[in-house]
Amino acid sequence: MSVANARPALTVLLATPRGFCAGVDRAIQIVERAIEKYGAPVYVRHEIVHNRHVVDRLRALGAVFVEELDEAPDDRPVVFSAHGVPKSVPAEAKSRRMLYLDATCPLVSKVHVEAQRHFETGREIVLIGHAGHPEVVGTMGQLPDGAVALIETVEDARVFTPRDPANVAFVTQTTLSVDDTAEIVAALRARFPAIAAPHKDDICYATTNRQEAVKTVAARSDVLLVLGSANSSNSVRLAEVGRRSGAAAYLIDDATGLDFDWLQGARTVGVAAGASAPEVLVQGLIARLGEVFDVTVEEVEAARETVTFKLPRVLAG
Ligand code: SF4
Repeated sequence: MSVANARPALTVLLATPRGFCAGVDRAIQIVERAIEKYGAPVYVRHEIVHNRHVVDRLRALGAVFVEELDEAPDDRPVVFSAHGVPKSVPAEAKSRRMLYLDATCPLVSKVHVEAQRHFETGREIVLIGHAGHPEVVGTMGQLPDGAVALIETVEDARVFTPRDPANVAFVTQTTLSVDDTAEIVAALRARFPAIAAPHKDDICYATTNRQEAVKTVAARSDVLLVLGSANSSNSVRLAEVGRRSGAAAYLIDDATGLDFDWLQGARTVGVAAGASAPEVLVQGLIARLGEVFDVTVEEVEAARETVTFKLPRVLAG
């Protein structure tokens, strides 16, 4: 090959861990096994996880995605998404004698239990999270209207006015920015020193590890490419974390979203994937980069993950 035709060298730093977490893996398996066991169609309330490729693949297998339970018939199984649902949803399914499978991530269910426990001891509960996200809707919906106050920012924490400042607790969404949440928690603790809290926050291991890996990778990269869908909270956070760590960061659904103009002059590109993004998309992106560049891939490992979650008994085995 002549030197004139040589492809420019590009180092790809692959953030590890990346992609599917234990809760996403479990939720997808629940839909797949439900289709195997009960046949199609199986209804799924809300996108099972926030990834377009995952949803399209399950739809092709026989899943029907609906936003509310009243869009599903009584006589077909329905799966609740990994983000969790308000208590009213299983209650409605029971009243209609529907067969339902709950794919709520056990780490989201743990937050539900914490909120319930605080409520039973008479505490006023603050939920740190993003308004409108299905996990937030689900967590707030564990308790009666008005029992949980949503806080999104440090400013919200500074102006929040509880009924009794000595009797407040907080819980958090699982997929927040670790650093932003620490600031909000610090603002709450400064105002309410006795606030009841989880050990640190409720941000899950997968969110924490992926953000840690992105920080390391982004600090060494000119550009960071994050695979994930725009409605995926943890994927959006990864792009934000990357930007703060000094890389130009882009969130793309797959290799077709890559714009090579972003990479002009870049010698090192970081690649990460949100907790709902399949690994095949990462490999597709590396292959696409390899069409233009002479790519060297280096894995950058921030943590080892060994977490797995059991399937519901009716689908196990
Ligand atoms: Fe569960 Fe965390 Fe994965 Fe969400 S990102 S499904 S909380 S493990």
